[in-house]
Amino acid sequence: MNSDQLLMQLKSRRIVVKFGSGILAHPSGFGLDEVQFEQLTYAMSGLRSAGHEVIVVSSGAVAAGGMAFGMVKRPEDTATLQACAAVGQTRLMQRYETLFSRHGLLVAQLLLTNEDLQQPTRRENLTNTLERLLSFKNVIPIINENDSVATEELKVGDNDRLSAGVARLAGADLLLLLTSVDGLLDEAGQLIPEVTALAEVMNHIRPEKGVHSTGGMASKLGSAAEAVAAGVEVVIANGRKPGQLAELVEGRGIGTRLRPAARLGLA
Ligand code: GLU
Repeated sequence: MNSDQLLMQLKSRRIVVKFGSGILAHPSGFGLDEVQFEQLTYAMSGLRSAGHEVIVVSSGAVAAGGMAFGMVKRPEDTATLQACAAVGQTRLMQRYETLFSRHGLLVAQLLLTNEDLQQPTRRENLTNTLERLLSFKNVIPIINENDSVATEELKVGDNDRLSAGVARLAGADLLLLLTSVDGLLDEAGQLIPEVTALAEVMNHIRPEKGVHSTGGMASKLGSAAEAVAAGVEVVIANGRKPGQLAELVEGRGIGTRLRPAARLGLA
């Protein structure tokens, strides 16, 4: 191993990146934003080339399915959302496969429920699969909730909790929660660059929530708290500015950062 390779290995981090529906769906309607997909996959490939291990948690299945059905807005009943997700998931993966292949990367699909993260045998199976996939170096695991059998994230969350659970299970160094705003905003709409006391900030955030997403900032903060408590650094940042993702990984860029020590504020 030469000195460059050694340096790369030392700096290499395991990163879970969550793409919310709000950054994958087209701002003007109910469908996928092709430009966003290109930019986000380009950014992920850059992180992979820099030596980082990347796990993507992606929403967007409902939006993709809705577009396939010709719907112009998000359905309200759960069964239709599930049907959209079932149709949209294949379209979502087709896009990821095409776009990541341009960067010489394969994709792996993992559809999970909360039980898969809780039940010991399933947890172990999942951990083994993820570790093996990451060991191949040219695979990006792409995780979504298995919406046809679980509806937690369809109702509330937009994969916020799922991504925190995956980050914890995978022993990630960093969880990037990408959303459609710059991070946590205070009551005056100002960005909170770093959270040191979670309990304190919980009462002072603006409840941002987009038309495509079911998460909102309270959900993100709750999920961030879970990850931080497990020793994972969390950054909430704007997924519509994918050019800054490498900076965010290096501890710079615009976003709200929660270092693992922030869990002290929960006491
Ligand atoms: N798993 C869902 C998706 O991929 C969650 C997002 C939603 O409820 O729209 O689309």
